[in-house]
Amino acid sequence: MKIAVVGAGIAGLACAIAMADRGHAVDLAERRPEGRSEGAGVILWDRACRVLDGLGLLDSVAPRAEVLHGLVRRQLDGAAIDTFDFRGGGNAFAALAVRRVHLVDAMTAAARQRGVTLAFDLPAVSVLAEGGVDAPAVLALGDGRRVEADLVVGADGRMNSVVGARVRGIARVDQGLVTWVASAPSLGDRLGQVAVDLWGPGARLGVVPCGGGGVYWAATARADLVPATRPWRETVQSLLPGRDGLVRDVLAATPEDAVHRHDLFDLEPGGPWHLGRLVLVGDAAHASLPTTGQGAAEALMDASTLAGLLPRSPAFETLNDALGRYVGAREAAARAGVFAAREVARRVFGPPSAR
Ligand SMILES: Cc1cc2nc3c(=O)[nH]c(=O)nc-3n(C[C@H](O)[C@H](O)[C@H](O)COP(=O)(O)OP(=O)(O)OC[C@H]3O[C@@H](n4cnc5c(N)ncnc54)[C@H](O)[C@@H]3O)c2cc1C
Repeated sequence: MKIAVVGAGIAGLACAIAMADRGHAVDLAERRPEGRSEGAGVILWDRACRVLDGLGLLDSVAPRAEVLHGLVRRQLDGAAIDTFDFRGGGNAFAALAVRRVHLVDAMTAAARQRGVTLAFDLPAVSVLAEGGVDAPAVLALGDGRRVEADLVVGADGRMNSVVGARVRGIARVDQGLVTWVASAPSLGDRLGQVAVDLWGPGARLGVVPCGGGGVYWAATARADLVPATRPWRETVQSLLPGRDGLVRDVLAATPEDAVHRHDLFDLEPGGPWHLGRLVLVGDAAHASLPTTGQGAAEALMDASTLAGLLPRSPAFETLNDALGRYVGAREAAARAGVFAAREVARRVFGPPSAR
C-alpha cells in the first residue's frame, strides 16, 4: 500500500518503520525542522522496549539511555510516599530513561534506512478527502502539494491534529495544569539510577536520570497557582521548597533556553479513530495527561498493532476491517490510560484529602 504518515513523533516514526518493514511504501511529513524534537525525555517501560526491540531499534537507543532501578515518591519534608523497584517483576526488559531527542533521532535514522521518504519543515494543512471504496485519501501539504494515499496515518499529536479534526473533531480538554519540562546536562551522581517524584500542595517535580549524568525533569502545577508574570524559576522554587535542595540544584543545572512551558491537555476518550482511509495513532487518538508517563509506550503499542494488522492490498473492505480490528485491540487500554492519568492528577494536584 501507499501510506502517508503525518507527524514524526514517536507514534509516527514507529508506524513508518513498522509499515516499511512490511513492504508498504511510506511517506512521512513533519512540520518541525529535523533534529528539533519537543519535550525532554521519556521512560520506556517493558512493553515499549519490546516494541523497539521488535523494530530493531533497542540496540541503538539503549547505549544513550539510563537503566532505571526505581522511583521514589516523596513529600516536600522528605517523607517517602511510596517507592517502586523496577528490577523485579519478571519483565524481559529494564526500564530505560532516554532523552526524547536521542530516541527520535534513532527512529528517524532507522526510518531512512528502511526507505521511508521523510520531509521535515512540511506541515499537513488539511485533509481534502477521507477516501473510500474507489478513492484514495487526499492530504494537502504546506508546500501546496496534494498527496494521495491508500492510507493516511494521523500521528500529529494532541493539540491540533489535522487528521484528528477530520476523523473525530476537536476533543481536547484543558486540565488546568501548567508544566515546565527540560533536560539538565549534569546533576552529578546525586540520584544514581533512581527517579524522584516530589509532591507538594498543588505542584509536583519529577526528575529522571537519563544517561551520562544528565537528567530530564518536569515541574507541574495547578494553573491557578501560577502567577502570569512571575519567572518560572521563582514559581517552581516557591511551589516546591523541598528541604534537601534537589529543586534548587535541578533548576541551577538547567540552562534557561532548555525549558519549555506547556498548558496540559488530554483528549476525551472515545472514538472514532478511523474514517474512510484515515486512521489515528498515539496522542492524536488518545492523549493522556503525562502524570503516569505512559504516552510513549501507548504510541509504540499502537504502531506495532496497526502495522501488524494492515493488509498488503489496498482493497477498502479489507483495510476497513483491519482498522476496526486495530481500534478493537487498542481502545480499551488507551481509554483506561487516560482515566488513570486523570486519577493521578486528581491525587497530586487536588485537595490533600484526595491523596
Ligand atoms: C509535557 C509532557 C511530558 C510528557 N512526558 C512523558 C513521559 O515522561 N513519558 C511518556 O511516555 N510520555 C510522556 N508524554 C507523552 C508523550 O510525549 C506522548 O504521548 C508520546 O510522545 C506519543 O506522541 P505522538 O508521537 O503521538 O505525538 P507527539 O510526540 O506530539 O508527535 C506529534 C508530531 O506531529 C507533528 N505534527 C503536528 N501537527 C502536524 C502537522 N499538521 N503536519 C505535520 N506534522 C505535525 C509534531 O510536530 C510532532 O512531531 C509527555 C507529554 C507531555 C505534553
